[in-house]
Order: sequence, then C-alpha cells, then structure tokens
Amino acid sequence: LYNQVQDLKGNIRVYCRVRPFLGGQPSHYSSVGNVEEGSISILTPPKYGKEGKKTFNFNRAFGPSATQAEVFSDMQPLIRSVLDGYNVCIFAYGQTGSGKTHTMSGPNELTDETIGVNYRALGDLFLLSEQRKDTICYDINVQMLEIYNEQVRDLLTTDEIRNSSHNGINVPDANLVPVSSTSDVINLMNLGHKNRAVGSTAMNDRSSRSHSCLTVHVQGRYLTSGSTIRGSMHLVDLAGSERADKSEATGDRLKEAQHINKSLSALGDVIASLASKNAHVPYRNSKLTQLLQDSLGGQAKTLMFVHISPEPEALGETLSTLKFAERVSTI
Ligand code: ADP
Ligand code: MG
Repeated sequence: LYNQVQDLKGNIRVYCRVRPFLGGQPSHYSSVGNVEEGSISILTPPKYGKEGKKTFNFNRAFGPSATQAEVFSDMQPLIRSVLDGYNVCIFAYGQTGSGKTHTMSGPNELTDETIGVNYRALGDLFLLSEQRKDTICYDINVQMLEIYNEQVRDLLTTDEIRNSSHNGINVPDANLVPVSSTSDVINLMNLGHKNRAVGSTAMNDRSSRSHSCLTVHVQGRYLTSGSTIRGSMHLVDLAGSERADKSEATGDRLKEAQHINKSLSALGDVIASLASKNAHVPYRNSKLTQLLQDSLGGQAKTLMFVHISPEPEALGETLSTLKFAERVSTI
C-alpha cells in the first residue's frame, strides 16, 4: 500500500523545513509567515519590490517547531520502499546554516530525540528487515562519499576514488561496508564525519562547500524461491546553495563557488527535466548527477528537501532556495 500511495503522488516530491531562530530570539521578526501542511508564506518587506506575502507550495512543509521524529515519520514510507527494491534519493538543499545537516544527521550532541534522518532511516531498515526475516533475508551495506570541487572522495577510507571503468555502477570503487545494527552505523558515521573534517579549519569549513552522500545498498533474498531484490538509498547533504560574496570570492573560494554552482544547477536541471517528463535528462553535467544517474528517474523516487532560515537577513537566499524548489516541483 505504501508504494501505491507514493506512486499516486509521483516520483518527485519537494518538502520544505524552516529552521527555528537560534540562541533563543523568539521575538525576532521572521521572514516566514504561515506554515501550513503543504505551503509556506514568505513576508517580503518593500526593499524586495512590492511589500507583501508570497506563498509557496510543497508536498509537505515543516515549521520551526517540527521535531526530528515528525520529519522522519513523513519520509518513512519512502525510506521503507528501499526494502521493496526501489531506488531512493533524498537531497537536503539550502544555504549554509539553514538546517540541512540538522535534518540529515542531527546536531553535534546526538540524543534519541535529536538524531536525524540518516540514523533513523537505517534503524528503520534494520527493524523492518528483522520483521521480514522469515520471508526475506536482507544484506545492508553502506558507503559514504564526499564530492568537493568535482572530486569524489571515499569517507570510509582516506583514499581518493579512482574513476570507475564500469558503466552502470552508480557509486564506483568506494568502500562498501556491511552494517547490521545502529551501533555499526554510528561508528561508520563517526569515521565519515572525522574524514570529512580533514581539510577544514576554523576559518574554512569545507563541509559547507562539499556534498556528502550516505548510500545504503540493500539486497534481499526470498527464502523460498531464492530470487533477489535490490534497492538503494542516497541521503545527500548538499553544499550550501548561497551565492558567493562577489567581493570576497577569489582564488580557491571562487573555484569552490563555481563548482558548487555548477553541480547544484546540474542537479536542478536533472530533477526539473524529470519532473516535466522530458525525454532528455542532462545527467552528464556534474559529478553528483553522474554518480546518482541510476538512482534518479525511471522507477526511482526523489525527495528534494529544501531548508530555509527565518532571519530577514537571509531573505534573498530564502527566495532563491524557494525558486529552486518551485522549479523542480510537480505540484
Ligand atoms: P547547514 O547544514 O544547512 O549548514 P545546520 O544543520 O548546521 O545547517 O544548522 C545550523 C545551526 O542551526 C546548527 O547549530 C543546528 O544545530 C541548528 N538547527 C538547524 N535546524 C534546527 C532545528 N530544526 N531545530 C533546532 N536547531 C536547528
Ligand atoms: Mg551542514
């Protein structure tokens, strides 16, 4: 039934989450007005043209008080479909500081309440595969990759990934690690986060300028017939979508900004052309879309989860994030 319901809604969904104000500034003026189940209204001061309210529609919208559990529970049917052999991609999109990592992984201090989608998704897959164990035997393996300046790095070793000669393998040559418990996953994520921090300094937080991708490969074997099913899930915490500050972006910063811009617009182009059912889908324009080619389009299910900040100072970026969301939406 899950998949029937999902199919009716189409294979591309767009969600939006608004981060709360940080550091307890509840009375602060917010650029986000009403948050309904499927829409968010943005309040624009006169500086941005006509003063007023603009409403954006989504398959699902979450306000600043939404909990990690609420967010996950809405994504759960999609995630569970991986065990039925579907390929799923979930992208967290938004400017730096809008809450992408909070949604996908959680805050620095993880508790049962604050853990993000990554941990919950794997926990749920373990639970469901355990419930099905009399019918199907599942193997679950994970990879963690980082794409930085169009270079792919394996976060579960410290090696750079060779370009694969095979076609049709979406994540080539990276370490594929079997997992069977939540503690396996926590250990791997810690390793991945540690490796990802390599190359960052206090002044230079590389994580906001690279894409990180947790890939889960699932293979199930029916105990009676011996036939197998395969599914995969890519959980992608994208690089910050903000425009580079023109006055500051020189040298390495400019190069990074150009790579990010190129790969995010390539991703937008791919999803927009899938959403409008174009025959030609331009997968080849970035490393990210090349890597995920087999998991985007066809029977695959995509969730673009955009994140916005409530501060009026962020309004320009908020509107450009919402424009991106509109472009890839099928609503
Ligand atoms: P991004 O990954 O988009 O750069 P983060 O996830 O790091 O942003 O969020 C920026 C800050 O805001 C972090 O301190 C994070 O813990 C906090 N934060 C983000 N979203 C929420 C939320 N929904 N509830 C509480 N704190 C949040
Ligand atoms: Mg982040």
